[in-house]
Amino acid sequence: MIEDMQEIVNYCKSRGFIYQGSDIYGGLANTWDYGPLGARLKNNIKDTWRKRFIQERKNSYEIDAAILMHPRVWEASGHVGSFSDPKFDCKNCKTRFRADNFITDLTNGEINGDTLSNEEIEQYLKEHNVKCPVCGKSDFTDVRKFNLMFETYRGSVDDEKSVVYLRPENAQGEYVNFLNVQRTTRSKLPFSIGQVGKAFRNEITPGNFTFRTIEFEQMEFQIFCKEGTDSAIYAEFKEYAKQYFIDLGLKEENLRFHNHDKLAHYAKEACDIEFKFPFGWGELNGTHNRTNFDLKRHQEYSGKAMEYFNNETNERFIPYIIESTVGADRLVLAVLCQAYEEEKIANSEEGDTRIVLHIHPALAPYKIAILPLSKKLNEKAEEIYKNLSKIFACDYDEAGSIGKRYRRQDEIGTPYCITVDFETENDNSVTIRDRDTMEQVRVTIDELENWFNKKFSF
Ligand code: ATP
Repeated sequence: MIEDMQEIVNYCKSRGFIYQGSDIYGGLANTWDYGPLGARLKNNIKDTWRKRFIQERKNSYEIDAAILMHPRVWEASGHVGSFSDPKFDCKNCKTRFRADNFITDLTNGEINGDTLSNEEIEQYLKEHNVKCPVCGKSDFTDVRKFNLMFETYRGSVDDEKSVVYLRPENAQGEYVNFLNVQRTTRSKLPFSIGQVGKAFRNEITPGNFTFRTIEFEQMEFQIFCKEGTDSAIYAEFKEYAKQYFIDLGLKEENLRFHNHDKLAHYAKEACDIEFKFPFGWGELNGTHNRTNFDLKRHQEYSGKAMEYFNNETNERFIPYIIESTVGADRLVLAVLCQAYEEEKIANSEEGDTRIVLHIHPALAPYKIAILPLSKKLNEKAEEIYKNLSKIFACDYDEAGSIGKRYRRQDEIGTPYCITVDFETENDNSVTIRDRDTMEQVRVTIDELENWFNKKFSF
């Protein structure tokens, strides 16, 4: 487990997991680009989510809805009216602050800024003669609400009528398609719709690397059910999400439930799963009992019935929704923080250390690295690479000593290295080295595919 945020930022950059967004222009705050390894890791995480939440569950369907939705969607959902954070500006240096977090941080958590009204925050700033952390002056604007949605315009005219929003959550795409999916799949309640996709929020709070960004990916899952069955499904999904994180390799002692004290306008029950990041506990996932609020509102705003018809009982009603949502970027960060170790090498006489990413094999960017011991062995090694890479994500490295090449693969979490040596020509075998135990076994080339077959399943 890594203890220091800066270390993980440096590690991600130097190995090609994550770079600052628009780096050559000095960066754009709270944006990050996934590099060759990061893109693979994130895709692998999304695959495990799809397997656990869609494939392994009966009556679960994935959709891929449009990011730009009819503006009325966001009126119905309540985002136009109330998806906002309280903020204030320093009149001198023009820096903008998120007011609730500002007070929480200033008082080291003694006062929870989230519980104060805008007027109470203004009063606190005045009474305590609080200074701007950037320029040192105490001259602030009033606290005002700022909507977190990004606006853009469709068509060629920049007027209010053509405003559309970049979606701030995936969920509404699932809600507006509830009846489309139910009818086309002929599903009975309970059934689920999931979606993996980008969401956008105009966050100004410092991001803690990829923890809080203005563009991020969510893996959202909505279970449509009958009122009365909702609380049991809610309780089940809190545990289901936690088990998913544990199976990915997050340690149970680094996970905790956090029930919401202040419920959102749509929620009957809400609980986060938090992970212990190097900067402190932070939300990875939310489980929400959203009641029938969303579908009711869409019925009201669209004028279209959002009712489910049970043809066995002849009942018609608007279902309840339990939501289980995970931030893909936060999960990537948690997995990296958890898996990163700097450890002493057990049998080394010099007390050598190595960096190793003890990542779940299913998540590893490369599953296998093929390392010819000498350039003379390239032909055989290339042939093995060509065959195995049809099935597994493989890396090929012929540069430097074999020890250095092992270290490089350990650092990026490759679970197995194959060494092609001078014996290979004679015995048609290679050595496979295990990342975690560093043990080596000899396996014939014909056996390789079978040998690896079940090693990467989730
Ligand atoms: P927070 O309280 O941290 O702002 P939230 O409660 O607003 O998060 P949700 O609206 O429940 O978050 O969004 C679902 C998930 O999306 C969160 O659990 C989180 O993993 C992820 N997420 C939300 N906002 C961001 C962000 N700005 N950057 C990265 N991931 C995010």
